[in-house]
Amino acid sequence: MSKSQEHAIQKEVDKRRTFAIISHPDAGKTTLTEKLLLFGGAIRLAGTVKARKASKHATSDWMEIEKQRGISVTSSVMQFDYNGHRINILDTPGHQDFSEDTYRTLTAADSAVMLIDVAKGVEAQTIKLFQVCAKRGIPIFTFINKLDREGQSPFDLMEELENVLGIRSVPMNWPIGMGRELCGVYDRMKNQVELFQGDDHSNIQVQKVDSYEDPVIREMAGEFLHEQLKQDLELLDVAGDQFDYEKVLKGELTPVFFGSAVNNFGVQTFLENFLELAPKPEPRRSTQGMVEPTNEKFSGYVFKIQANMNPAHRDRVAFLRIVSGKFERGMSVRHVRAGKEIKLSQPQQFLAQDRDIVQEAYPGDIIGLFDPGIFRIGDSLSQGGNIVFDELPTFSPEIFSKVTVKNALKHKQYQKGIDQLTEEGTIQVFRTASFDETILGVVGQLQFEVFEHRMKAEYGVDVQLQRMPYQFARWIIDEKIDPSKFRINSVLVKDKKDNYVVLFENEYAMRTAIDKNPTAQFLEMAP
Ligand code: GDP
Repeated sequence: MSKSQEHAIQKEVDKRRTFAIISHPDAGKTTLTEKLLLFGGAIRLAGTVKARKASKHATSDWMEIEKQRGISVTSSVMQFDYNGHRINILDTPGHQDFSEDTYRTLTAADSAVMLIDVAKGVEAQTIKLFQVCAKRGIPIFTFINKLDREGQSPFDLMEELENVLGIRSVPMNWPIGMGRELCGVYDRMKNQVELFQGDDHSNIQVQKVDSYEDPVIREMAGEFLHEQLKQDLELLDVAGDQFDYEKVLKGELTPVFFGSAVNNFGVQTFLENFLELAPKPEPRRSTQGMVEPTNEKFSGYVFKIQANMNPAHRDRVAFLRIVSGKFERGMSVRHVRAGKEIKLSQPQQFLAQDRDIVQEAYPGDIIGLFDPGIFRIGDSLSQGGNIVFDELPTFSPEIFSKVTVKNALKHKQYQKGIDQLTEEGTIQVFRTASFDETILGVVGQLQFEVFEHRMKAEYGVDVQLQRMPYQFARWIIDEKIDPSKFRINSVLVKDKKDNYVVLFENEYAMRTAIDKNPTAQFLEMAP
C-alpha cells in the first residue's frame, strides 16, 4: 500500500468514534440517541428509533417476539456525521431482559456512554453492563439525565458511582439548580455558563466567565443559585478528582456531564466534549500480535449473528466490526476458521431498520454481511493471513433450564435447531453425565423465549423448558474428576466440547466445592 493510501485510512480512523450507550431501561437511552442523531441531521433515523419502541409502528421487526413486546431484542447500529466525525452508535437492547448479545455488542465498542437517571442513580442493568466495559478497560463517559426533575444531589451520585461501580468521577460541568429551579450548567473545563431559556430550554445562552466566582453568574442565575454553585465547586476543586486524561482512557476515571435529554439540554455540549475525548478505533489483540487500524490489510470479526431479519428469505446477517484496513464491496477475504477465501458482495449497513448497501467502510465501522450459514460468532475475516481476534469471551450463564422435545418424532429437527442456535450464540448447551439430559444455559430470561420461539418458527419443534435451580456455571479442570463430589446443590455436566462444567445452586455450594477441591481449577468461562 502506498503512503497516500495509508494516510487516507489514517484520516478515516481519526474521524471515527464507535460507542455503546449503557443504561437501565427508562433512563432515557432512546431519547438521548434520538437527540444525538438529530445533531447529525439524521431526522429520518431519529423517527425510526422512536418508532421501534412502539410496537404498532415496528413494521419490519424481524421477530414476532419483538412485535408482541415492543422491544428490540437484538442490537443494531446507527451511524451519523457531526463536526467532521463519523459516529457509530451500537444499540443495545433497552429491555430489562438482555442476553449475551448485549455483552458481545459491547466488545465492538471503543468506549461507552453510561446514562443515569438523576433520581434513580445506578441501577441493576447499568451495573452489569458497566462491569463488562470495565473488564475490557474501555473509557466510560457518564451522562446524568433528567435534570429537569428533582433528583439526588450530584455529590451523592458521584459517591454512588464510586461505591457501587468502583469508578472515580470528574464532573465536566455542574448543574445550576435542579428540577424546576434548573437554569443551566457551569462548564468547568471551558469556564462558561450555559443558560437554558424558553419553556423547553431549547434556547441556550452561552456566556464566557473568568471563573465560577464571576459576578456575571449572579446576574444570570440569581444570588441563591450562584452561592450554591460557588460552594459546590469550591468543594470539588479541593476534594474532587482532577481531570486526568490517561485515567479516563484506561477507564479508571469517568467524565460526568449533566443534562436533560428530552429537553435537549446539555446534549450538544456533551456530544462535542465526548467526540473530543473518546478514543478513535484502537489496535486490537490477535493471535498474530496487535493489529493496527491503519494496517493495509483489511480485517475484522463477527460479534453477532442475527437470524430472520427478513422472514421471507430466512437469511441471517453476521455483524462484523472492522479492525483494520479498508473494506470495499465485492472484496475477497480469508474466512480464517473455514480456511477459505470468500467474497463480500452483499454487505449491509444498519441504519435503524433500513438496510443500505455499503460501498466502503473503515476501522470502527460495523457492517452486516449476508450469511448463508457460514459464519459463527467470533469468526475473523482477514486479508492478512490467519489473524484471529480474541475479543469474544463467552459469558458464564446464570439461568438454566432442562429442555425436552414434545414430539419425539421431531428429534432430528430439534437437534438441528439446538446445534444451530448454539452456534449463533443464542444459548449454551450442556449435557448431564448420567442421563444424557440436555440443559440450556443463558444470561437473560429473554434468551429462553427467543429459543422457544425460534425452535417453533424455524424448525417446527415444540420444546418444553423446565427451569432448574442453578445459578452459577464453572468449568472445572482437574487430573481426575469425581462426579460423586458434585451431588449436593450442584451437578456435573459437559459442554458441547466435552469440557466438564459444574452447575451450582448458590454461591455457598460453589465456595465449598472450590475449598474441597484444591487441586482443581474452577473457571468462569470455557477454557
Ligand atoms: P429508555 O428506556 O432508556 O430508552 O428511555 P426513553 O428514552 O424511552 O425514556 C423513558 C422516559 O423518560 C420517557 O417517557 C422519556 O420521555 C423520559 N425522559 C427521557 N429523558 C428525559 C429527561 O431529560 N427529563 C424527563 N423529565 N424525562 C425524560
